[in-house]
Amino acid sequence: AGSVPLAVALRDALNRRGREDVRLVETGCLGPCAGGPVLLCEPEGILYQKVALTDVDEIVEATVERGEVIERLVCHKADTNAPLARVQDNPFFQRQVKIALRNCGVIDPASIDDAIAHQAYEALKKVLRGMSSEEVIAEIKASGLRGRGGAGFLTGLKWELCRRSKGAVKYVLCNGDEGDPGAFMDRSLLEGDPHSVIEAMAIAGYAIGAGQGYAYVRAEYPLAVERLEHAIRQARERGFLGTNIFGSGFSFDLEIRMGSGAFVCGEETALMTSIEGKRGEPRPRPPFPAQAGLWGKPSMLNNVETYANIPAIILRGAAWYAGFGTPKSKGTKVFALAGTVRNTGLVEIPIGTPLGDIIYELGGGIPNGKKFKAAQLGGPSGGCIPVQHLNVPVDYEALQDLGAIMGSGGLIVMDEDTCMVDMARFFLDFVQDESCGKCPPCRIGTRRMLEIVDRICAGKGEEGDIERLEELGRIIRETSLCGLGQTAPNPVLSTLRHFRAEYEAHIREKR
Ligand code: SF4
Repeated sequence: AGSVPLAVALRDALNRRGREDVRLVETGCLGPCAGGPVLLCEPEGILYQKVALTDVDEIVEATVERGEVIERLVCHKADTNAPLARVQDNPFFQRQVKIALRNCGVIDPASIDDAIAHQAYEALKKVLRGMSSEEVIAEIKASGLRGRGGAGFLTGLKWELCRRSKGAVKYVLCNGDEGDPGAFMDRSLLEGDPHSVIEAMAIAGYAIGAGQGYAYVRAEYPLAVERLEHAIRQARERGFLGTNIFGSGFSFDLEIRMGSGAFVCGEETALMTSIEGKRGEPRPRPPFPAQAGLWGKPSMLNNVETYANIPAIILRGAAWYAGFGTPKSKGTKVFALAGTVRNTGLVEIPIGTPLGDIIYELGGGIPNGKKFKAAQLGGPSGGCIPVQHLNVPVDYEALQDLGAIMGSGGLIVMDEDTCMVDMARFFLDFVQDESCGKCPPCRIGTRRMLEIVDRICAGKGEEGDIERLEELGRIIRETSLCGLGQTAPNPVLSTLRHFRAEYEAHIREKR
């Protein structure tokens, strides 16, 4: 968005005025993507957005030198146009509780000293100096943290299962293969705070008895890979990775493996097959990865966001974390707000926050005077929520009841102009293209579904097409080998559930 030349110009302007006392920190994403590039002036908390090179001198003269706010650069309230100069007053930030994202947009992700100044590796020290692995697992279990990659399995339970598996060699894995269209949570975390993931993986290694970790990051995220690589090097130099960490006798190291663009490699067994250097295809379960995963050894996979929560839970306690969220879904969740919403960007909210609050308070509502039509949650594996359910609390169970899923956190907002059949076709086309082809229900079934949706969109739908879609969807869901196929029909089935009339209208209007 132009932040790099902006930082150069700001540093230059500060130097010219001899303001060495003002520190310019190049951070990861602060969240409000629609306003980028953004500049946060501390300690006042003044947030400037859409900052241009031509604004630099004025910012230094007016704000840095005289403490004045430049009104044209601050956010304005959507309804009254009142200026919102300070980040604390901005509804985009007010409802957020940043736990996973606590350091994103705050620290310089290239500086381990900056991370340490914000408590990086304190949780690892606490664990290695004073907790047994059982105590660590008990703490994670008590926090109620569930996997943030989509399935929502209890993280502590997963750790416990892997700890109980027999084997001298075990692996800790991180899934950074975020491939959902519209999702950029993991990317921002790795770019903005890579040390939190490294620290959490080392804690996980201690908890399950593993000495080696692999972070699987998609190659389309070069900056995330670069920052993670840099952070791993720094962590090794400081003794947070390697042998005898904190003098505890515990040893752990970490390597990056890059994905090559296959969406299915986000599925845990396909990811492990890919790390093994083979074609990334899912494997049947059982055996489960906790028993026989990477290279046949017990392995534990969590996604980037799940890991980013771990150090905060260890430092502040399970009870503190469980104080956020709902009785069944504790803590917070990061969402990538995209589509036809004013404030696109990255937000972290307590689980259970009503969907309407996310879209209208944090997101600022629908632009151009349009009406909200639906939100697609969970990307290609997910489903849509229509306007009559706008106030559904965003948690695992409530969304599932409506035919959607929490997923990894992609949240695409659609206005009244969106054709829901078209939207379903987009996601079906995506999963059809990404099907690895190993099992017929997914390989052939999604193809047949796509052909039907294609002809409906082309005005050539036939009597019985809707029923055919429903039957195919049900069979593909029930018989596909992996999560990709099992969830591939969701966008079609979910739009059929909430927007059946649109499919019928397309078929009626047959040319
Ligand atoms: Fe491959 Fe699809 Fe079968 Fe998964 S469900 S194994 S992606 S063909």
